[in-house]
Amino acid sequence: MAALGGRLFVDLPGFGPQVEKLPVCLRILLENVARTQKGSDRDEAIAALLAWSGSGTSMAEIPVQPCRVLMHDTTSTPALVDIAAMRDSLAESGADPATLNPVLPVDVSVDHSLAVEVYGRSDAATVNIGHELRRNAERYRFLRWASTALSGVRIHPPGTGIMHTINLEQLATVVTTEERDGERWAMPDLMIGTDSHTPMVNGIGVLGWGVGGLEAQTVMFGMPTVLRIPDVVGVRLTGRLPPGVLSTDLALVVTHRLRKMGVAGEFVEFYGPGVSTLKAGDRSVVANMAPEYGATTGYFPIDDATLEYLRDTGRSPGAIAFVEEYARLTGLWFDRDASPRYTRTLEIDLAEVGMHVAGPRRPQDLHPYWETGPALRTLEGGKDVAHPIAIAAITSCTNTSDPRLLVAAGLVARKARGLGLKVAEGVKTSLAPGSPAAARYLARAGLDRDLAVLGFDIVGYGCTTCIGNPGPLPPEVPGRTGHRVAVLSGNRNFPGRIHPDLDRAFIMSPALVVAFALAGDADRNLRDEPVAIRDGRPVMLSQLWPTHEEIDAALATAIDPSDYAEAFKVATSRPEWHALEAPAGARFAWNPKSTILRRPPFASTDAGSQLGHFTAYPLIVLGDDVTTDHISPASAIPKDSAVADFLVERGDDRNDLNVFASRRGNWEVMLRAAFHSRSLLNLLQPDSPVAHTVHVPSGEVMPIHEAAERYRAAGDSVVLVAGERYGTGSSRDWAAKGQRLLGIRAVLASSFERIHRSNLVGMGILPLRLPRGRGPRDLALAIGDRIEIDADAVNLAPRRAVTVTVIRKDGRRESFAATAAVETQFEVDLLRDGGVIPHILRGAMTRPEKFGAD
Ligand code: SF4
Repeated sequence: MAALGGRLFVDLPGFGPQVEKLPVCLRILLENVARTQKGSDRDEAIAALLAWSGSGTSMAEIPVQPCRVLMHDTTSTPALVDIAAMRDSLAESGADPATLNPVLPVDVSVDHSLAVEVYGRSDAATVNIGHELRRNAERYRFLRWASTALSGVRIHPPGTGIMHTINLEQLATVVTTEERDGERWAMPDLMIGTDSHTPMVNGIGVLGWGVGGLEAQTVMFGMPTVLRIPDVVGVRLTGRLPPGVLSTDLALVVTHRLRKMGVAGEFVEFYGPGVSTLKAGDRSVVANMAPEYGATTGYFPIDDATLEYLRDTGRSPGAIAFVEEYARLTGLWFDRDASPRYTRTLEIDLAEVGMHVAGPRRPQDLHPYWETGPALRTLEGGKDVAHPIAIAAITSCTNTSDPRLLVAAGLVARKARGLGLKVAEGVKTSLAPGSPAAARYLARAGLDRDLAVLGFDIVGYGCTTCIGNPGPLPPEVPGRTGHRVAVLSGNRNFPGRIHPDLDRAFIMSPALVVAFALAGDADRNLRDEPVAIRDGRPVMLSQLWPTHEEIDAALATAIDPSDYAEAFKVATSRPEWHALEAPAGARFAWNPKSTILRRPPFASTDAGSQLGHFTAYPLIVLGDDVTTDHISPASAIPKDSAVADFLVERGDDRNDLNVFASRRGNWEVMLRAAFHSRSLLNLLQPDSPVAHTVHVPSGEVMPIHEAAERYRAAGDSVVLVAGERYGTGSSRDWAAKGQRLLGIRAVLASSFERIHRSNLVGMGILPLRLPRGRGPRDLALAIGDRIEIDADAVNLAPRRAVTVTVIRKDGRRESFAATAAVETQFEVDLLRDGGVIPHILRGAMTRPEKFGAD
């Protein structure tokens, strides 16, 4: 340990020469365990990290204590509902409910519920936020209760921006200070977020990653998150991006290359001389897409570009100097010539990156920007089908946080406007920046008018189209019909992600979104064909595309570091938000008639362990690539669905049901929403309607939740079987909660997405990895087959073999060894307790001093 400006700090170089060989992200983990742990836990974790050589996956577990938690409104609502329900359970058992408080700062960004109801008009942002506040008032009042009743919870209201942009611009300190055991410590700003794109902050040297809401609950109550020391993939960057190529293009190339390499949950770190040619804004775009390239992080170490970003966004000179001094002293400062050890490496020459798009159904499917047509035609089986653009959205934290990308889009708009071009008919245009500072810098450069003339007025500051809230599709235009497509600057494009009626979408830079909106056709070859014809003359993309110098010149006019704090302050003090009543009291007063907030049954000590030796019916059997959107949809509640009927029976308006994501405080709705997806195939009963399955004992096909209830009433266990990458996509914990409410005791899958696997454990559901060659189709489960699982609580251990036996209808038995997809002993303990919530409650009852931050 050493001292810096009156603060102690962990002297990383003092651990010896091995530290220099560690990837920088592992040095940060080393600092964390050295500062936060004690005794043998500390010694063992330090020894394991120093012994990390990159060759062979480490089996060592290390306890890591992040210093803050970031959430958004749709993941925070269920987490805070759980806390409100836990407080009820404590009160009912005679304890003081007010003692249960997060012990870490929790920032909640209200960004996920903004929809593009109106667009192409100057008051669009005001009108859209008005709709948002009206529709979500009850949920937002609950958030206001949480911010007053729970210490440490800070809510960033609608209009303040997207969580990851807020993190970059307002919350991240890069290096911070804490009090621990009566001493002041300087330390890296290590954080977690309940959103898979949390690694965006890795672009400015902050180590952070996405976790499920349940894991976040353990961390916010002061328990460490226990990690296996990760494999680290090093991406060596050389060269410099060519003229015209933007950071979105690089992010798409990185996504493609790392997916091809087979990255699956590793930490990724960028190194090499090419890193120094990228601005922190560029790096954050690349870091943001970590989940799309299969990684947990996309880390860029601290250097001059980090400091420049902190200056440009208005951080104080003292804070910036502290970051530099700390990083240099501790060996966390980036050295472009260093080559730390990595588990695997990949080299990317920035000079070879071209302009790209990705899609039309997965973010890793990369194409040169002129090859959208062939990609679409392949899906049409070679048939000649038109592909009119229905949505052209400049959206997402990924591609609207870096002023360079928005300014480039503004310059395309300016040149198009100068040539008198207009957006094609039938295209819904929108601009939803990640931060209200964007309005200021675009206006200062005069680019807001250029964008608005084309219909790209600001529609608000939130997730909008990126999360599947693009509002209604525009009507089809006669003469421009066909298979409609979205173009967007988002990061995901799974069928239905953008809009339930769109199954094709291309991801691209904001500037290309403007160009495609002008063209109107998603299959236009913008290299060889004109974007538009004006006065009989073709206008080519090259005439519209800005040079790096033009972008730099516009940025020089546009950027004022004071914008960030000022715009955020104005947005934070929005009167409509503060006019919402904030209920008081240690316990939340549930409204028995509410269709938004209900006390969940699993937030109780009675939840109980689901481990054991049992025989179960398969509730549903699924194939590969089942996403959390399939398991627990976020999109609009279909008016003609059973969920809609359920809500209408309770007084809701069928025409204003909002999105599933807005109902995550109501377990009764979310139970019925589980597996509510048109594109999901239940292999057990392939012709069953949406969200239906066969109840095996009766042979009846019925809604999944009704079948689950019948099994439960009869005392029968159920399991779920799935293929590769089960639970890919968003980090939503409701995907696991819904399965727990359905009574699912174990999920048997060929492979699991990292966060969903952790969420299953968090809900007390045992994830089991099927052996190779035993995928759901190989198992050939037929109606009447049952599955016996020997998962005794005493014998369960991380990655231990678990015997599974398929009992065929005729009595034949086929056994094989599955693997417990349980990574740590802490996870075993959670499963033994029945999940995170009973674990916290038991802790709060036995050690209340640990759970009171007051
Ligand atoms: S990736 Fe999209 S949905 Fe997620 S936080 Fe960013 S804008 Fe919102």
